[in-house]
Amino acid sequence: MRFKLAVLPGDGIGPDVIAEAVKVLEAVAGRFGHSFDMSYGPVGGAAIDETGTALPGDVLKMCRRADAVLLGAVGGPKWDDPQAKVRPEDGLLALRKGLGLFANLRPVKAFPVLVDSTNLKPEVIRGVDFIFVRELTGGLYFGRPKRQWRTSRGRRAVDSMVYSEQEIERIVRVGFELARRRKKKLISVDKANVLESSRLWRQVATEVAAEYPDVELEHMLIDACSMRIIQNPRYLDVLVTENTFGDIVTDEASMLAGSMGMLPSASLAGVPREGVKIPGMYEPIHGSAPRRAGLDMANPIATILSVAMMLRYSFALPGEAAAVEAAVDAVLDEGYRTYDIMDEGKTRVGTKEMGNLIAGKVEG
Ligand code: NAD
Repeated sequence: MRFKLAVLPGDGIGPDVIAEAVKVLEAVAGRFGHSFDMSYGPVGGAAIDETGTALPGDVLKMCRRADAVLLGAVGGPKWDDPQAKVRPEDGLLALRKGLGLFANLRPVKAFPVLVDSTNLKPEVIRGVDFIFVRELTGGLYFGRPKRQWRTSRGRRAVDSMVYSEQEIERIVRVGFELARRRKKKLISVDKANVLESSRLWRQVATEVAAEYPDVELEHMLIDACSMRIIQNPRYLDVLVTENTFGDIVTDEASMLAGSMGMLPSASLAGVPREGVKIPGMYEPIHGSAPRRAGLDMANPIATILSVAMMLRYSFALPGEAAAVEAAVDAVLDEGYRTYDIMDEGKTRVGTKEMGNLIAGKVEG
């Protein structure tokens, strides 16, 4: 099969890790007989330097024409001036908006070989494998009114947590569809004991559940959920939540994996159903780690696993996705580590060598 891919390496270690992910994708093409047409464009700081904007119009057009977008990371001290009119992160927001990406998927998996490198006890971490679905376009971050003003008694500010039933329904469906492919258990996370928007969220989730009799729905309060992530993360399988809650708890959950360099993510513009290709953007959850850029140090695994998600959701190639994931497992099992996951008795490798090893396993 033939696919069109937009590749946006971005800043810092972005280009380093993207080069390895592309290597792995080429190995997939070779082994399974696909062809990936890749077009490259600047985003973030790189785009500001070149064009004065964080996402040039022609790059957005290129992304719209593609079946999927692969992104490295954006940002760095060079563009950190708080007075600046344009910031690298503006590029990410423009991509989300311009591509209609509303569902952010973040799998959290404790790799068996890395259970000793996390801050929690190995017996709590072992076997952890869940996926968070975060709503990306609504809630507190975008609701109106949103402003700060002065009164005779001092300054005041307001943000609004606003959701429509349509917004809730489509994101909850993403959760149900994923749960259907996994353990058939969905946890919907809210704060229905306090927030009106959460009460609507809970009603709509319950209504949609009627269409998924094979999936068990559990409602969990966000405070209980953030405790459960630390206390008994093995209990979790698929979770769905609104924008702000998701932003916070997905960062908390990422700590279970041992390193930022291990976690992929996907942002989708549709509900993933078996055999259906959904446009999406794929990126590691980490930032541009500017101090490591160009030093052949960064761990490319998060980006390589993002490619696996792209194969699964945007190209509907689950076998190819599983081959990439198995290649990562095999290379870790053989004891190869980048600096961030290095342990006694293991073999330390750089970004490129890690990419070569994983691509080699994919080729078989
Ligand atoms: P960061 O994720 O870049 O780095 C945090 C820590 O993790 C650092 O110690 C870094 O060296 C390490 N790290 C990150 N990715 C790694 C990898 N693949 N391999 C090995 N080590 C890795 O976060 P930060 O330092 O807070 O931010 C740096 C820049 O990235 C800032 O400009 C920030 O705005 C930006 N940022 C971008 C994104 C994005 O593009 N989605 C996300 C977060 C931060």
